[in-house]
Amino acid sequence: MDHSVKLLKELTDVNGIAGYEMQVKSLMRDYIEPVSDSIVEDKLGGIFGKRNARNGQHSIMISGHMDEVGFIVTKIDKDGYIFFNTVGGWWNQVMLSQKVTITTDDGKEIRGIIGSKPPHVLSAEERKQPIDIKQMFIDIGVNSKEEAEKAGVELGNMVTPYSEFEVLANDKYLTAKAFDNRYGCALAIDVLNQLKDDQIDIDLYSGATVQEEVGLRGAKVAANTVKPDLAIAVDVGIAYDTPGMSGQTSDSKLGGGPLVIMMDATSIAHQGFRQHIKEVANKHHIDVQWDTTPGGGTDAGSIHVANEGIPTITIGVPLRYMHSNVSVLNVDDYNHSVKLVTEIVRSLNDDVYNQMMW
Ligand SMILES: [Zn+2]
Repeated sequence: MDHSVKLLKELTDVNGIAGYEMQVKSLMRDYIEPVSDSIVEDKLGGIFGKRNARNGQHSIMISGHMDEVGFIVTKIDKDGYIFFNTVGGWWNQVMLSQKVTITTDDGKEIRGIIGSKPPHVLSAEERKQPIDIKQMFIDIGVNSKEEAEKAGVELGNMVTPYSEFEVLANDKYLTAKAFDNRYGCALAIDVLNQLKDDQIDIDLYSGATVQEEVGLRGAKVAANTVKPDLAIAVDVGIAYDTPGMSGQTSDSKLGGGPLVIMMDATSIAHQGFRQHIKEVANKHHIDVQWDTTPGGGTDAGSIHVANEGIPTITIGVPLRYMHSNVSVLNVDDYNHSVKLVTEIVRSLNDDVYNQMMW
């Protein structure tokens, strides 16, 4: 298996919703430590590999986020059915009949299914209505609350989507849960890999934050801990290349290259930095999709307003079926975004930084 595909598989196979990112962090540490001069952590779980500049007074933070969307267990009823709260944004139509994993405090993984009614019993009216998330339940295949508890299920357990990582018909297309945003975690690792034998002229902190999906929370503490002069939030963006999506607001598509987000609901790209990125992309012949996301935001929303202000931009790849069990990305987009971010880091020094500021 190709290096990028293997790394994306490993990172999407582990489970971690906001506040429960332990497995992801441990895997990231294994990859980051050998290619960093030191490790920097914040107290909520964010982790970064630091590479020291040869010359230069400035620093850049490159961050994905480790959390994925999921649920937490809030109630087990007398028959052993499990009720939950959502963590991060979910649409009820993508949830029914999906498999999930409940991770117990001992780290045991229990398979569950979000149960649904068969169409035979639905009235014409019921068929038209999406079912309320509050009515949904997880079936782990037990008869009673006692049996569920004996299996290890407790209130507060993390629940994550379950689906197998697969390479699709065109082997550039991959499907998995949690590309949002293990994609960014993989990129942060691969940028350190790419630069491991390079001398760089800006201090580099490359890693990932926690709790993005619940309101860009971990990015605040990461920015306050690292105190960078410049930041790139690395996250997935929306692909508009499926039926019913095309023609709306953007033409971003899988295979079209990395996305550079000019504006979303929580941030506007720093203009000096954006123009510099345009030059880097041109110089290295990397096709970029310049994009805007009217709704939603990335960690850039928290990072750019931290400290005295941190010039920030979001770079990513387009993703289909975001926030579901079966997101799809293109591995060429991944590799080109690694190349783009790596070349940006290589291009930075004190003079370039000062020229970007206005
Ligand atoms: Zn997300």
